[in-house]
Amino acid sequence: MSARLHVDLGVLATNIAHVRATVAPATLMLVVKDDAYGHGLAPVVGTASAGGVTWFGAFDVATGLAVRAALSKAPGRRLHASAPEESRVFVWIAATADELADAVAARLDVGVGDPELLEELAAAAREAGAVARVHLKIDTGLHRNGVRPEDWPAFVARAAELEAAGVIDVAGVWSHIAEASDEEDDAARHQYERALQEAESVGLKPQVRHLAASAAAFARPEFRYDMVRVGAFCYGIRPAGGPSAAELGVGPVSRLEADVVAVDARGVTIELGSLDGVPSSLADRASVGTPAGPRRLREIGGRSVIDAWDGAAVGDQVTIYGPGSAGEGSATDLAELIGTIGEEIAVRVSPLVPRVYSGE
Ligand SMILES: *Cc1c(COP(=O)(O)O)cnc(C)c1O
Repeated sequence: MSARLHVDLGVLATNIAHVRATVAPATLMLVVKDDAYGHGLAPVVGTASAGGVTWFGAFDVATGLAVRAALSKAPGRRLHASAPEESRVFVWIAATADELADAVAARLDVGVGDPELLEELAAAAREAGAVARVHLKIDTGLHRNGVRPEDWPAFVARAAELEAAGVIDVAGVWSHIAEASDEEDDAARHQYERALQEAESVGLKPQVRHLAASAAAFARPEFRYDMVRVGAFCYGIRPAGGPSAAELGVGPVSRLEADVVAVDARGVTIELGSLDGVPSSLADRASVGTPAGPRRLREIGGRSVIDAWDGAAVGDQVTIYGPGSAGEGSATDLAELIGTIGEEIAVRVSPLVPRVYSGE
């Protein structure tokens, strides 16, 4: 048997409820990019929707369409009389003209951070005889596709014109921040405030203002506005070098496990290859959980080898990371050993590694 990723949808639901309660009255947008951080898009969307999540952050149009498809199959809020409104799906990566037409047809909310894209999206809406849902993005310092402050007044004026013409609906004004230092984030927030004022001064009334991801959503209430875009904390992935998952009040959702396939003089070989997505730089750095407690992961590759223990046998199970008591760490524990973040470990788990769901 190959490695497998156990995903506990019950823990996911509990985390989501905790995040929603923490950020209330702001709304949670659950970020589901990278196949829901490696947990599997459709099961995550189904669980979240049943738990009351009505906004999803999907990165690109293809993922946005996949979220729409998952929602149409998911039991949940959509069927409740008390929540007749359809869920919203936000995408924020610039797209081709064809993709924009798809986005309009699927009623996706599109993040727009440059004037040309705004015109292309408006053209797609006109073509379809529909109204495009738009979230205007101000660059508050990250320099990742946002409109620069000096270009912002003309940009919002044009958006107001298109809205008045019935081509677009400016549903949101947003930005993305580094969440690396409070000072930088404060400067970004001031820039964002100015952008909001300028948008309002041309008559725009965005229903959702959103700026924060996981870290700022928890630590800095003034960054929550109407909505926060949270991925990591919903999946129980704590920030590298930051507070523990327990302090945050969330639990790990997934556990990566592999079977022992050979025991010999070299050690214990497990069915885990570098193709499974575990960074080979973890070799000789990480410990994994075994029936006898933690053991050093010595090699990752064609053969992955760990230090032996008394009575080790073919078929024993080894935990690479995840919740358990066999001595393994969390995704972020592993990430810290190689100077990266927990998300990086989670999203690298190969799609070929089967996901095994529980807790539905
Ligand atoms: C990934 C992403 C998020 C979520 O970040 P987390 O730290 O995982 O909560 C929010 N907003 C944008 C634009 C993102 O790309």
